[in-house]
Amino acid sequence: MKILVLNSGSSSIKFKLYEDKTAVASGLVEKIGEGDSKVELKDITKDKKYSREGAIANHEVGLSLVNELFKESGLLHDLDELDGCGHRVVQGGAKLINHCVVDEAVLNEIQRVSVMAPLHNPAHIAGIKTMQKAAPKVKNVAVFDTAFHSTMPDFAYMYALPYEYFEEDKIRKYGFHGTSHSYVSKKAAEFLGIELNKFNAITAHLGNGASVSAIECGKCVDTSMGFTPLEGLMMGTRCGDIDPAIVPYLTKTKGLNPDQIDNIMNKKSGFLGICGFNDLRDVEAQIKKGDKKAKLAQDMYIYRLTKYIGSYFTILPRTDALIFTAGIGENSDLVRKLVCDKLAHLGFELDESVNKGLRGKLCEISKVGSKVKILIVPTDEEFEIATITENLIK
Ligand code: AMP
Repeated sequence: MKILVLNSGSSSIKFKLYEDKTAVASGLVEKIGEGDSKVELKDITKDKKYSREGAIANHEVGLSLVNELFKESGLLHDLDELDGCGHRVVQGGAKLINHCVVDEAVLNEIQRVSVMAPLHNPAHIAGIKTMQKAAPKVKNVAVFDTAFHSTMPDFAYMYALPYEYFEEDKIRKYGFHGTSHSYVSKKAAEFLGIELNKFNAITAHLGNGASVSAIECGKCVDTSMGFTPLEGLMMGTRCGDIDPAIVPYLTKTKGLNPDQIDNIMNKKSGFLGICGFNDLRDVEAQIKKGDKKAKLAQDMYIYRLTKYIGSYFTILPRTDALIFTAGIGENSDLVRKLVCDKLAHLGFELDESVNKGLRGKLCEISKVGSKVKILIVPTDEEFEIATITENLIK
């Protein structure tokens, strides 16, 4: 089966083509609407690249260029040849709790819940509509970041606000990065030879955005992101948990409006806000040069991450594994070491000789006999989306 996976952002489309579950091409349309746009396709089987540069006015033009590059590469003669197209959709809301084939009602619901993901859902809708127009016969599947977290119990997903905000405005914890948490927990259970429905784990998806989930019997029972992807851990540019009273305080003391505060908390906080660098590699390099703010940012990150993992350890009846994934989780042996050192007294015993220098490889990094197994599991959200799409259209 030929499945295209699309992750449409406001000014970009990330794509990957699968043939019978093997990735054969990947690519990116970037800077849509900015004048100096670019589209690149990589034929993975031949290690060959194809590209176009110049203004790409909108998603429709972007996708038509992707189609052209597919033709040029010989991988596809037309998008119509696809068996299906899987779309990443960040927010499904309270109704779309299962991944599904897109019809008009689904599209309307994704649109309706856009207020809860204003940076993401409108772009996903643009991607889906573009695909519908370019290849009308191809089935589109929506894969929701929020779906995996729909198994959380009410006492975990509710906020202690007046109940009508939940009833009328659907304000509750939704969680994000669901396809990643789902993929790595399945992979880890398989790797450890434990049946998924008996597997308990804490999954730490640590990328530019970051979230931790508690998995009991293969299902999510809690996660650190909330109503939006802002809650929880400190991230590259996002603040994570803060006292909510800081928001009205800033409106009064600094005269900031809600949009300005939202922008600050999402784009100017986290590592960037504390030390001026959002990429952990730069933060670690600054620490080596003696930068005190960079060290503070790292200390805060590790402290908060440890608190979340520790709290999920207490709510799970047993923890079989701690799983590190995404850019930081897969690549930073230092973050893994600093966190596990703090958790050692709970039975998380890291084998430093295995951990050191290890990047992006599925591997157990705990000591033999460690109460909790510690694993690196490289995430593959696109593969998960392709698999879900294939299963749904079959
Ligand atoms: P992601 O959002 O999953 O692509 O992760 C991106 C983040 O991973 C970057 O911002 C870096 O902070 C981090 N990262 C990638 N490689 C390394 C590395 N070798 N050491 C530390 N952090 C890394």
